[in-house]
This record gives sequence, C-alpha cells and structure tokens, in this order.
Amino acid sequence: MSVMITDLCINCDACVDECPATAIVSGADSPVDGDLTYVRPEKCIECVDCSVPKCVDVCPTDGAIVWDMPFTAPFNDYYKSGHESGVYAIREHKSKGVMLPEVAERPFRESIGMELRNAHAPLEF
Ligand code: SF4
Ligand code: SF4
Repeated sequence: MSVMITDLCINCDACVDECPATAIVSGADSPVDGDLTYVRPEKCIECVDCSVPKCVDVCPTDGAIVWDMPFTAPFNDYYKSGHESGVYAIREHKSKGVMLPEVAERPFRESIGMELRNAHAPLEF
C-alpha cells in the first residue's frame, strides 16, 4: 500500500474501475474476511503520477479511504504479519512466492508522512 479501505465504505464500487493499477477489488470478491471493497497493497501505486489518487477522487464517503504504510522493503515485516493474520491477502507468485515488498516494491508518495500513515488518516486532497 499504499492506501486501505475502512468500514465506512458503502461498497458503491465507484473506485474499482478508476484505479490505474487494478488494485481495488469489489466487496463481493474480497480475498479477505468480510465483504468490504479491498485494496491490494502489492498493486497500489498511490497514484504517484496524479495530483489526486483516483480512488479518493470518486469516493463519496469521507474517511472510507485511508493511508497505510509504503509498500517498500523497510515495511516487509509489517505486510508479512498482516498477510499472516488475514488483514491482507497478498498474491502468491508461482516461483517468487508471496509478493511482499522485499520481492517487489511499489511506488509511494514521499510527501505523506509517517504520522498520517501510522494513524491511518483519511486521504485529503
Ligand atoms: S491510490 Fe491509486 S493505485 Fe492506489 S488504490 Fe487508489 S486508485 Fe488504485
Ligand atoms: S468509492 Fe469509496 S465508498 Fe465506494 S467502494 Fe470505493 S472506497 Fe467504498
């Protein structure tokens, strides 16, 4: 990640087709427990090339999309433990194994500080 979706989400699916990284999965197809729309952290690129992340630009619900940690090697254990506890369902590659940050890092917005990420603060643009 990346970004994550909270239980404030109303499962309207407006964000699903907008994601340039095809990182968002409709609640009905979520790979984790529950039926909330889900962001695949191993795919999200935080829309680094856009002024506003596409998902939050179309989301009608304040607080439904929040910051999570960068999907980079220093946060490998964070995502590994989240994957093991079921918070995330990170894709498993046939030869590379689970696609954790140490296998494939993703771009992230360096302008977003760790305070916001640790607090899972809502995206605001
Ligand atoms: S920030 Fe961009 S890449 Fe990440 S889930 Fe939202 S739309 Fe997709
Ligand atoms: S646009 Fe917002 S409310 Fe709608 S599914 Fe996506 S995160 Fe949930």
